[in-house]
Amino acid sequence: MIIIIKQNVSKDQLTVFKANLEEKYNVKVNTWVGVGSTVLGLIGDTTQIDEDWVNAQDVVEKIKRVQEPYKKANRKFHPDNTVIELPTGQKIGDGNLCIMAGPCSVESEEQINYVAQRVKDSGATFLRGGAFKPRTSPYSFQGLKAEGLDLLKGARKVTGLPIVTEIMRASHIDMFESVDIIQVGARNMQNFELLKELGRIDKPILLKRGLSNTIEEWLMSAEYIMAGGNSKVILCERGIRTYETATRNTLDLSAVPVIKKLSHLPVIVDPSHATGKSSLVEQMSLAAVAAGADGLMIEVHNDPKHALSDGAQSLTPDQFDSVARKVFALKKAYDLIMAE
Ligand code: PEP
Ligand code: MN
Repeated sequence: MIIIIKQNVSKDQLTVFKANLEEKYNVKVNTWVGVGSTVLGLIGDTTQIDEDWVNAQDVVEKIKRVQEPYKKANRKFHPDNTVIELPTGQKIGDGNLCIMAGPCSVESEEQINYVAQRVKDSGATFLRGGAFKPRTSPYSFQGLKAEGLDLLKGARKVTGLPIVTEIMRASHIDMFESVDIIQVGARNMQNFELLKELGRIDKPILLKRGLSNTIEEWLMSAEYIMAGGNSKVILCERGIRTYETATRNTLDLSAVPVIKKLSHLPVIVDPSHATGKSSLVEQMSLAAVAAGADGLMIEVHNDPKHALSDGAQSLTPDQFDSVARKVFALKKAYDLIMAE
C-alpha cells in the first residue's frame, strides 16, 4: 500500500503519522520525498489496515493498493529514477551511459592492465573481470580467485577505473570489501541467502537476470537485497533461455522499458552473454541504447581466440573502440530525439 501525503504537511505531522501507522498496524514505512510530493510505502501485512481510518487522517491525500509483490524496487514506492553514486563519484542511472568492459576472466597482470587501459581509452567507465568463475563444467578454468581480485585492484590503481566482479558465496563478502561493484551472476540470481547477505552491506550490487527467470522474479531478487537495507541495486539483462539455438541466449530487450516502467532501478544490458557471438555485440549494443538502457556490460579480451573463457563472444580492444564510438554517437542522437 502507498499513501500519498498532502502538500504543505509539516515534518512533525508526518513523523507522528508514520509512528502511528507503524505502531497501530505493525508495518514498516518507507518514505520517498520528491519535488512537491511525498509518498509513504508500507511494507508488511497491510491487509489489516483500515483504509477509512487512513483516509480520515489530515495529512493523507489518497491511498493506493500495490498489487506487485516487490515493494522497495517498485516505481510506485519511489517515482523518480534511482541514481547510484560511487564514493569515487561515478554515477549510474543519471542519464549518461555507463560502460563496463573487460575480459570474462582475469588471466594475468599484463592482460588485465592492458585491457583496462584500452577500454578506458575508448570511453569505458568501469573495468569488469571475473576472478571467481561460475563454469558449467568443473573441468573448465575456475578463475584466479583471490589473486584475480588483487590483479583487478592493481588495474584500478593504474587506470583509475572502478572494478566490477562476480561473487559466488556469502563467505567471500569480506574479500570483496574494496571491490567497487559486486556482481551477482545469472546462476546466483535466486541464491537468496547470498542476496540477504548483500542486503546488509553498503555497496552497489549488479544483479544479472537469471537464465530462465521472469522479470517479476528478477525484481523479487532485487527486493531481497533492498529489504536488508541496501538500495544500491543495478539490474543487468543478459539474455534468457529460449528454444532458439542460433544465439547463446535470447536478448530480451523489451525487459529494459518494462523494468523502467515497473521499477526505479537502473538497468544495463550485456550483449556479450546474451548473444555468445562477438559479431552480434555491436548491433545489440546499439539496440540496447535505443531501448533506453542506462549502460552496457561488454566482454573485451586482448586475444579472444586464446581466452580462458567466453572468447567467442569477446571483442578485441580495437573492435570495442569502434563499438564504443558508435554507441556514444547513437546515445547523443537518442537523447536529442527523446527530448523533442
Ligand atoms: C560473466 O559476467 O562473466 C558471467 C558469468 O555472466 P552471467 O552470469 O550473465 O552468465
Ligand atoms: Mn563471461
